[in-house]
Amino acid sequence: MLSMHQVAKVYRTELVETHALRSLDLHVAEGEFVAVTGPSGSGKTTFLNIAGLLEEFTGGDYLLDGVNVKGLDDNARSHLRNEKIGFIFQGFNLIPDLNLFDNCDVPLRYRGMPASERKLRIEDALGMVGLGSRMKHYPAELSGGQQQRAAIARALAGSPRLLLADEPTGNLDSQMARSVMELLEDINQQGTTIVMVTHDPELAARAQRNVHIVDGMATDLSAAPSVVRPLH
Ligand code: ADP
Ligand code: ADP
Repeated sequence: MLSMHQVAKVYRTELVETHALRSLDLHVAEGEFVAVTGPSGSGKTTFLNIAGLLEEFTGGDYLLDGVNVKGLDDNARSHLRNEKIGFIFQGFNLIPDLNLFDNCDVPLRYRGMPASERKLRIEDALGMVGLGSRMKHYPAELSGGQQQRAAIARALAGSPRLLLADEPTGNLDSQMARSVMELLEDINQQGTTIVMVTHDPELAARAQRNVHIVDGMATDLSAAPSVVRPLH
């Protein structure tokens, strides 16, 4: 699903060069649930942004679902991103003056999907995260855990093959964090590949595989080969 080979990222300003990723090798098979941990400043967010085609890399190779990302123009990258990837962020990133239905609708409209299909997908996705009766509610009317579930529904409505999560439980208390983690596990069991950056060792331990990033390089902490679950 995701295959990075010696990926490097250098941020350059007039005075400073920062090697955010040095030579990152990471392969994630379809259906895996991988947790990425590592110290602050080690390159986790940079990795996730490159994986999600939000940022370009300066060296190495990246294949996303078999597509070589290097050399794609901006249009092709956006298209690939919208088609394959869903994002979940620590801060939820819901639009405050849109209700949950309309929040989920934003990326689907962007993809030019017909209204009838959008409605079906949004109702399905909000139902799956347990917010089927809250479609007309605004983000401020929900708890943090519900807001994160709504953000997950927004990602799911696009039927992503790969879900990228940056500290998805970072703003939640431990009980809400657990319920969001259970939801991610359900989504993974239905076949979606998940890569999650987390500071929380308890959550990381629940993923199938742990990858540690230090100084812009990745180490696989799981000795055993990963088990790839069959799709339903
Ligand atoms: P970014 O998301 O911009 O990459 P980080 O995730 O590295 O930023 O977090 C920014 C700062 O907050 C760092 O100093 C990091 O160690 C700290 N931090 C963020 N979330 C947690 C957490 N759950 N537990 C401990 N420290 C955290
Ligand atoms: P993490 O998510 O593990 O905290 P980051 O990927 O955010 O780490 O950052 C890795 C390194 O790259 C850090 O040294 C950070 O300061 C640097 N960095 C991140 N984004 C930028 C940027 N836009 N410009 C310059 N340096 C950056």
